[in-house]
Amino acid sequence: MSNAYEAAIIGGGPAGLTAGIYLMRAGIETILLEKQIVGGAALNTEHIDNYPGFPDGISGSELTGRMAEQARKLGLVIKEFSRAEGVGYTDGFFETGVDKESYRSVGVIAAMGTEALKLGIPGEETLVGRGVSYCATCDGMFFRNLDVAVVGGGDSALSEALTLANIAAKVYVIHRRDQLRAQQILQARVSRHDKIELMLGKVPLRINGGNEVESIALRDTKTDGESELKVSGVFFYVGLRPETGFLGNLADRDDAGFIVTDENLRTKTPGLFAAGDVRRKSLRQISTAVGDGALAAVNLEKFVLEKR
Ligand code: NAP
Repeated sequence: MSNAYEAAIIGGGPAGLTAGIYLMRAGIETILLEKQIVGGAALNTEHIDNYPGFPDGISGSELTGRMAEQARKLGLVIKEFSRAEGVGYTDGFFETGVDKESYRSVGVIAAMGTEALKLGIPGEETLVGRGVSYCATCDGMFFRNLDVAVVGGGDSALSEALTLANIAAKVYVIHRRDQLRAQQILQARVSRHDKIELMLGKVPLRINGGNEVESIALRDTKTDGESELKVSGVFFYVGLRPETGFLGNLADRDDAGFIVTDENLRTKTPGLFAAGDVRRKSLRQISTAVGDGALAAVNLEKFVLEKR
C-alpha cells in the first residue's frame, strides 16, 4: 500500500513538529511519522528553563504537547508508533517504509533525534526495568525515598539528577573524570543541592543484584581501587547516538552517525533534509531543533514548489 504526500517528516520531536507547522502553513501536504509518541527526547525532561518565552520554565511534555497541538490544528497528519525502517529514492520520489506500509513523497525531513547509549557493563542489560533506567522522568517515581545513582557528567546527567533529587532520598552522580562536561548553571545547581553527591573520577564496572539493582561497583581512576555503592536504581546518561542507518547511501554521516548537511540543511540527495539532534551540529537544544525544523521546512517548500 502506498500513501502519497508532498513531504514526509521522520521524527516527532521539536524539529519535526516545527517543520510540520511550517509546511502546513505553506500548504504542503505533509505526513509526520513518529516511532513512539510525539515529543521526542524533550519528553524526558521534567523542567526546561532555557527555552525562550517561559520565564518560570515548562515541562518537556507540555512544551512539545503544545507544538503537536498547533501542528494538528493546521491539519498535519501525525502517525505515532510508526518507525521508519527504510527510505528509498527512485525517479525523484522518496518511499519511506513503515512496517507493511510505505509513504511516497517529493521531499523528506529526517528529524529522528537520538537514542540513549548503553554503557555495556555487566548487569546493565539484565536489570533494565528492575532498577536500571535511561529516563528519570519516566521511572523516577519508583525510587521515592530510595538512593539512586546517575552515571554521566553531561547536561542530561545533571538535569536528570536534579529531577531525581525531588523524589529520591539521595542521588549520587558518578562521572569518570574530575571535571563535569555539563553547562555551568547545571553544575552550580547540583553542587548546591543537599541531596546530590558528586562522585568524580569513578568508572562504573558492573551493576550488582539478583532480581533488582542492589549496588554499583566502581573503580577509582586515581587509586585503581574498587568500591561498591549501595543504590536501588542506576540511571545512565552516557551520551546519545543517532539512528540513521536506514537512510542507506542517501545522506552522508560523520563517524558517530550524525547526518552531514549544508547550511540550508540539505543532504547530498536533493529533497532530503535533516533537522534537529540527528544532524551534525555544535549545539543540541530545543531552541536549535526548532530553528532547524523551520529552516528545513522552508527549503523543502521551495524544492516542492519547483517540482509542482
Ligand atoms: P554528552 O554531552 O555526550 O555527555 C555524556 C556523558 O557521559 C559525558 O560526561 C561522558 O564523559 C560520559 N560518558 C560517555 N561515555 C562514557 C563511558 N564509557 N563511561 C563513563 N562515562 C561515559 O550527552 P548528554 O548529556 O546526553 O547531552 C547530549 C546533548 O544534549 C548535548 O549537546 C547537551 O548539551 C544536550 N542536552 C542539553 C540539555 C539542556 O540544555 N538542559 C539537557 C540534556 C541534553 P566525558 O565527559 O568524560 O566524556
